[in-house]
Amino acid sequence: MRPLDRGPVPVDQDTGSLLVFKHYKDAKIHLINRMGKFCAYCEIRLTQLIEVEHIQSKLKFPHLKNEWSNFVLSCKQCNAAKLDENPNPDDWLRPDRDNTSDAFRYRAGVVVPNSKLSPEIQARAARTIALAGLARIPTRERLDIDFRWSDRRDCEAIARKKLEEFHAGEVDAETIAELAFGYGFWGIWYITFEGVPEVRRLLSRSQTEDTKQYQGTAACFDENGNPLPRPGDLL
Ligand SMILES: [Zn+2]
Repeated sequence: MRPLDRGPVPVDQDTGSLLVFKHYKDAKIHLINRMGKFCAYCEIRLTQLIEVEHIQSKLKFPHLKNEWSNFVLSCKQCNAAKLDENPNPDDWLRPDRDNTSDAFRYRAGVVVPNSKLSPEIQARAARTIALAGLARIPTRERLDIDFRWSDRRDCEAIARKKLEEFHAGEVDAETIAELAFGYGFWGIWYITFEGVPEVRRLLSRSQTEDTKQYQGTAACFDENGNPLPRPGDLL
């Protein structure tokens, strides 16, 4: 799961003052500009129905309803799964706070905690998975509604194929980073290319001028693109 950095409160272009959101939906375009059109939880590439998701429930914490620091982008399915759940912030892994890059693994479309982590961290990862419904395999009735599982499964297969092609010298790292951007599911690409610094370096960049690459990834990686502790994270 891509660790995210939404950056400071955006500034009003005309007045130069910090934006105050009258409605949380007004933050959508700014979140897109900072972090790209991807769901913060399932990491699917968002086309339509992009939702501003409240990390902490807007019903239970009304004062955080229009707070920039409480926003990420999500798909409709993750937002609906999370609904108004409001777990203790320390009980789950949050992509806007923690270095979540190595916390999850992807198994035929289902997200699972990285079994190499401590039981405590695995429990937090499992809580995130449960919150956003990331282990959900849709029932027959919901197969045409919830595409997260099948899209993730397809992306795993593509990333594995590209890894083989990379080792065979048939595709370069830059192209793989572009494919990762085009297909979405940053975490699948990052984990599949473990041990391939050429690709991980590109995936872990926090900012780039290239509009075909991920923006707004938190700066918590070493020079080979491997994870580093993030200040204040729970890993
Ligand atoms: Zn999602």
